[in-house]
Amino acid sequence: MTKRVALIYDVIIVGAGPAGLCAALYAGRGMLKAVTIERGAPGGELLNTDLIEDYIGFESIKGWELAQKMTEHAKKFGAEIVTDTVDRIRRAADGWFEVETARGNSYHSQAVILTAGGTPVKLGVPGEKEYAGKGVSYCAVCDGAFFKGEHLAVVGGGDAAVEEADYLTRYASKVTLVHRREDFRASRILQERAFANTKIDVIRNTVVPEIAGNEKGVTHAVLENKTTGKRSNLDVGGVFIFAGFHPNTQLVDGHVDHDAGGYLITDNKMMTSMAGLFAAGDVRSQVTRQITTAVGDATTAAIAVEKYLKSLRETDGKVMARK
Ligand SMILES: Cc1cc2nc3c(=O)[nH]c(=O)nc-3n(C[C@H](O)[C@H](O)[C@H](O)COP(=O)(O)OP(=O)(O)OC[C@H]3O[C@@H](n4cnc5c(N)ncnc54)[C@H](O)[C@@H]3O)c2cc1C
Repeated sequence: MTKRVALIYDVIIVGAGPAGLCAALYAGRGMLKAVTIERGAPGGELLNTDLIEDYIGFESIKGWELAQKMTEHAKKFGAEIVTDTVDRIRRAADGWFEVETARGNSYHSQAVILTAGGTPVKLGVPGEKEYAGKGVSYCAVCDGAFFKGEHLAVVGGGDAAVEEADYLTRYASKVTLVHRREDFRASRILQERAFANTKIDVIRNTVVPEIAGNEKGVTHAVLENKTTGKRSNLDVGGVFIFAGFHPNTQLVDGHVDHDAGGYLITDNKMMTSMAGLFAAGDVRSQVTRQITTAVGDATTAAIAVEKYLKSLRETDGKVMARK
């Protein structure tokens, strides 16, 4: 069995997407001994995004470029970013967190900022991966403006699908909402608003078994009626998929309050129901998931951690090397 090496820090940041990198920057400025553990290259979802046009201060920037700038900026303030996968976050009886990684390390601290983001649920059909970023999208706010005047397909039947279909009509000439069931799961009020929108067409009991295109991007979605099995092509410039989103919260051992979607609920300091565990970015229960909201959360979390550790020190001198 691999022997775990205990590494002591003031704060451990899990994930180096926009939230994690921003938390690392503020932890560095706050003179905290911090480590950021990232399983891949720093940048998170920025690395899956072609062009970003809504991050204030950058009229248009490539996702990878913004990721690089954020990483360099965090490192300038002393961010220590290690490449490893966090397997488990456990709060021990003495209040210390033990963060265990795939490489056999055990990082210990009295505060953890979880910024592990989440993953949009994929349809898993031919063309989805191939045209991701070239017409296939999982984020209407992020990509809607790239489809002015085009006919779009939205796939899904929950709140996100119905709300985003409505949102996309401000850019698209027409939106076809394709749902695999007869009834929508979306709340009644969202359904009423969307179905009253003359730019939205609804196709029920239908799945999308394939997304097709050419070198320029998506050209059509293949539709299959679930009752008859009949297939047809829907000519569209883009396919927005809202089949769900899984926040990466399974790393935490023990109960932490979360909403119906599994997103972590925090107070206004970004602390979860588990004392010392903070959450920021896409992993957190909130209305909007954008780069701006991720870095906003992270700023609050890192500054709150500084105060939290200070308060522990003042009340009972708990912040000291772990015995
Ligand atoms: C296709 C797409 C396009 C988008 N376009 C835009 C846009 O134009 N504008 C905008 O504002 N927002 C956009 N967004 C949303 C934006 O990217 C997210 O809101 C933002 O990245 C959230 O930041 P985050 O740090 O919370 O999470 P993420 O960016 O998801 O970062 C989480 C990080 O945690 C790491 N991680 C996860 N689990 C572990 C583990 N066990 N161990 C170690 N590391 C782990 C991941 O590897 C990842 O690097 C887009 C999202 C997508 C999917």
